[in-house]
Parts: sequence; C-alpha cells; structure tokens
Amino acid sequence: MSAAIAVAGALLVAGPAGASPNPAADSTAQTTQTPLERQVLPAGNGWASEGTGTTGGSAAEAANVYDVSTKTELLAAFAAGNQAKIIRIHGSIDANTAPDGSPLTCEDYAAGTGYSLAQYLQDFDPATYGRDQEPAGPQENARRLAAAKQAKTIRWDIPSNTTIVGAMPDSSITGAALRINGATNVILRNLTLRDSADCFPAWDPTDGTEGNWNSEYDLLQVINKATHVWIDHSAFTDAPNLDSSQPLYFGRPYQVHDGAVDVTNGSDLVTMSYNRFSEHDKLLLIGSTDSPTRGDPGKLRVTIHHNVFENVGQRAPRVRFGQVDVYNNHFKVTEDSAIPYEYSLGAGFSSHLYAEANAFTLPDGISAADIIGRYKGTAITTIANAVNGKITDLRAEYNAAAAPADQLAEDTSWTPTLRTHVHPAQAVPALLKDSTGPVFTAGGDL
Ligand code: CA
Ligand code: CA
Repeated sequence: MSAAIAVAGALLVAGPAGASPNPAADSTAQTTQTPLERQVLPAGNGWASEGTGTTGGSAAEAANVYDVSTKTELLAAFAAGNQAKIIRIHGSIDANTAPDGSPLTCEDYAAGTGYSLAQYLQDFDPATYGRDQEPAGPQENARRLAAAKQAKTIRWDIPSNTTIVGAMPDSSITGAALRINGATNVILRNLTLRDSADCFPAWDPTDGTEGNWNSEYDLLQVINKATHVWIDHSAFTDAPNLDSSQPLYFGRPYQVHDGAVDVTNGSDLVTMSYNRFSEHDKLLLIGSTDSPTRGDPGKLRVTIHHNVFENVGQRAPRVRFGQVDVYNNHFKVTEDSAIPYEYSLGAGFSSHLYAEANAFTLPDGISAADIIGRYKGTAITTIANAVNGKITDLRAEYNAAAAPADQLAEDTSWTPTLRTHVHPAQAVPALLKDSTGPVFTAGGDL
C-alpha cells in the first residue's frame, strides 16, 4: 500500500456527521485530525445515515478502546457490553482455534459425535435413499452435533455501539461467522474477513432438481432487526479455500460457504462502501424469505456504493422487499474466474432495486442480458450503467432475452436521496482500482 492510496481512500469516505456547507473542506479536516476508528458515517452517505445516523463506538472512552491480536482478546471485547467501544484488530485472527490458540480442524469438531462424511455419503446416497426426503437418522443427528460444536467456536456477535477496524491494512479474521444480531450502530472498516467454511455441509435432495449441499455460515450476517450498520473499506473473500476446489458428491458441488454479507430478518439501514468482494458464489442476500412474517416489509433498506465485485457468482445483491440503492460499483468477471457466473442483480419478491452508474467488465460468453436475474420481482430501475465501457440499458437487455412472464417493469416507487457524489459509470473502474478494501492505518498504531 502506498500512502497516496490511503489518503485517496480516506478523502473519498471521510467527513463530518453533521450537514456542512462545504463538505470537501470538512472531509479533509476529519482525515487529518480524526483517527480512522474515531470517524462516523458522514451525513447523506447511504441508508445507514438515515435518522440518527451511524456513529459506532467513535465516542468510546479510553477504557473502552481494545487493541486485540488474539481470538481470546477479541471475544473479551465483544463481551464487554453495549457501551461505545472501539476494537482495533492487529494481525490475523483465526476463529478455528482453541482458547490456548491451537488450531481446530473439522475432525476435532466431529470427534465424539459419531459423524463421518464417508458414512453420511453412504447413508444418504440418492441412489438408495431417494430424493424426496431430507436426511434423517443417526448420521444426520451426528452431523448436527458436530456442526453445533463448530458454530459455538466460530459464530461471534458484534454488540451495539461498536467500531471494529483493522489497525493495519493486512489485519484479518479467518474462519469466523460474524453477526450483527439484533444490535444497532455498528461500524466495520479496514478489515479482511475470509473463508467462513462450514465443516459440515448438509445435503438437501429437495433443493433444486438435482439437490444441493448447503452451508450455514456467512462472513457477516446482519440479522434479527439489526440497524444502522456501516461496512466500509473491507475485503470479503473465500480465498484461498474456493468452493471450486471442493469435490462433487452426489454429482453436486460440496459447497462449504454460504453468503459473504447477508442482511435478513427485519434488519435495516445499512451502507456498504468501498469494499472489495472477491472469489465467492452467493454474495449479498438481502431478505431470506418471501414471507412477510419476519418483519421484512418496509425494512431491508441498504445502500451499496463504490464497491468492487470480482469473480462473484450471484446475489450481488439478491433482494427481497427492500429499497436497495446500488450505484458506482465495479462488477468484474475475469476470463479465468473459478466461480461460475449466474447473475449480479437479483430482483426478488417485492424488491425495489435501484442500479445506477455501475460498471460491468465481463468476458466473452457473458452478456448484458445476464446481469439481471428475476426471482419473483416485478420491477427494477437501471440507469446509465456501463457494460465493457458502453452505456447500456440493463433492464431492456434483460427483457429482450427474457420470456414474457419474466419481464421486469421500471420501478417508479422510489428515488434514492442518501447519496455521496455519483460518478459516471465509465469512470468507475479507474476510480476504484486502488481505493477499495483495507487501505488505512488506524490512529495510534504507528
Ligand atoms: Ca445455501
Ligand atoms: Ca446466509
């Protein structure tokens, strides 16, 4: 990382909480005077700035600033409660470890449960077990016991009024299933979250026509009416443990990952900015069910701007219910991507997706018509997006290739207002080339 990059990234995102007649001047002031972990989400920066805005733990007293470099220290900070707190991560933290720091393997979680993948594959082989019922019996019970042991080890909840930052650009957490679970006012910045692999995927023969292996963990879940969340300048990836390197069982990929960031169960007011999402299949699920019973109608409002999506398979995002503003992102699929491309923008049940001035860089074989996927949605707004440098009407391209029953109308129900500057789509790839993901050094570390 060069200092120039860090400064450029900071200038793009930093700013005061209050309205200002001269935002550019104030942004510079905050960058030079306010350490990363003391910054708040600037006014007008996406849905998380609505109402009371998002301040995280920026106002923490000195006693509530935690410098952590081990899992034990990090969990102690999470357990400290809901007072304003700052957590600065130093170095790499691995979730699949025992309290003494020694690594835990999938075999360690399975020990004592009776679970064996070989036996599981034998018991639930569709050739003998059939495809019309979900696995049940001793091996499924054992799988659940082993999975519960892993979940207890790697699933961590970030409490309310917390700012969690990487102290250095290479700070990371590997293997954790982080959650913002019913909490409010959380800022996560400058951190790499990597490979929350599930040791015990479940076979569901009724999922799709051929069945599927399903995994439990997202890198970060925003769940159970969590609100006011700002996720910024962070990186999310499965690498180096890609699902494409996993075997096929029952003819289906043994997927060990679920989402990267999923926003579900009545959660609301989330801004994701300047992040780097790479090498992952099902990326951002916003709303997990068509049913209104989990409090989703009127919620699930998310802004996704100035992020890079590189070699992402699908759900970038896939939306139900929410008003979701997707602008100035760069969606990039490389020729040699190991992740099969399905679609980027998923219009799910009752969704309100607004996609403006995004750039798509796609290889031969993926066309503009492939960018939108319809999953019971009826409308979408797409404005001035660019595909391989050319301004393209994504909705028209989609409709031209879709069956009559799958047409999407223009969504005239809302217009986003909580936005930073909107750049022309063609400028986005160069703009984001070196300014997404972790680029900062947190205040006081050096
Ligand atoms: Ca799944
Ligand atoms: Ca999920």
